[in-house]
Amino acid sequence: MARNARIYRGTPRNLARLARVLREGGLVAVPTETVYGLAADATSRPACLRIFAAKGRPSSDPLIVHIASLRDLARVAVPNAAALRLARRFWPGALTIVLPKTDDVPDEATAGLPSVAVRMPSHPLLRRLIRLAGVPLAAPSANPFGYVSPTTAAHVARSLGSRIRHILDGGPSAIGLESTIVDLRAPRRPVLLRPGPITRQQVARVLGVPVARSRKAPGRGSQVAPGQMARHYSPRTPVILHARLTPGIAAAGSARDAWVFVRRPRGARDKRGNIFWLDARGDLGRAARRLFALLRELDEGGFRRIHVERPRGAGMAEALSDRLQRASSSWLGKDRGQLA
Ligand code: AMP
Ligand code: MG
Repeated sequence: MARNARIYRGTPRNLARLARVLREGGLVAVPTETVYGLAADATSRPACLRIFAAKGRPSSDPLIVHIASLRDLARVAVPNAAALRLARRFWPGALTIVLPKTDDVPDEATAGLPSVAVRMPSHPLLRRLIRLAGVPLAAPSANPFGYVSPTTAAHVARSLGSRIRHILDGGPSAIGLESTIVDLRAPRRPVLLRPGPITRQQVARVLGVPVARSRKAPGRGSQVAPGQMARHYSPRTPVILHARLTPGIAAAGSARDAWVFVRRPRGARDKRGNIFWLDARGDLGRAARRLFALLRELDEGGFRRIHVERPRGAGMAEALSDRLQRASSSWLGKDRGQLA
């Protein structure tokens, strides 16, 4: 594959250069604490369109707009008291808030919706870049549409390197899962659109009201077209999600399959080199950091199928389960053939 992309270290000189690329409407893959994003000037129609073209992303899928200070919020969104409370508590951080948009944000960034999804990331290099560019940055994850999100600059180079020119390296993503998305268009009825690192319970505590789970959530009567759902966050290798996985099940299963436990299974002998775990002790924060990198490794490892144990419980387990469920729908869904 032809590679055009250059990976930049975050020197002042490189940041100035990449800020200029962004101001001129170009694309830059950027590090965030969640996953790497493919960024462009959120106030520019042609710049936003370039994101969709590079990712092969359908224009019906809205982008997240990234800002560097609370002052910039009113430039892109119409905040309400509930949004300001969440912002003060969780920003900078892995929480995205959906609010009515301003005219500065073109329809291209919001898939034609009158609302915008906005977040203030904590990654210091990205914050510096946003400030230098002087514009809010629209960014989805920096991967071809439907594939596993990147958590290193090398992941971005591998899957988008022939379609983009600039990648800013900010090290491995500290969190490793996409942000939590809360819909506050109706501030008294907050809705969780995507579970993530900031838990539904944390959000509910700050708002003082329960946070409903979106009906669009996977596995609960999804309104999203099956083709789109099936390919979201998924490796090419079929992923099978298990409510319960034991060393015995793995040992009895195929040697050509990979078996991924949440924690290191006791008594499992990995004689066939196909036993993996997300974190030795089952710490879910560490598991999140490792998940996408491991799925990519296994996808390239020649396994026939990837079996994964589903983490149980609320909080980060809800976010991990959501991503795994979407990764696995490719195999359970109808359009398995498309993914071959
Ligand atoms: P995901 O499928 O992980 O990309 O989840 C993102 C969710 O946030 C989807 O349900 C989107 O429709 C929703 N979302 C993102 N941006 C907006 C927006 N501008 N207005 C309304 N919903 C949005
Ligand atoms: Mg994505």
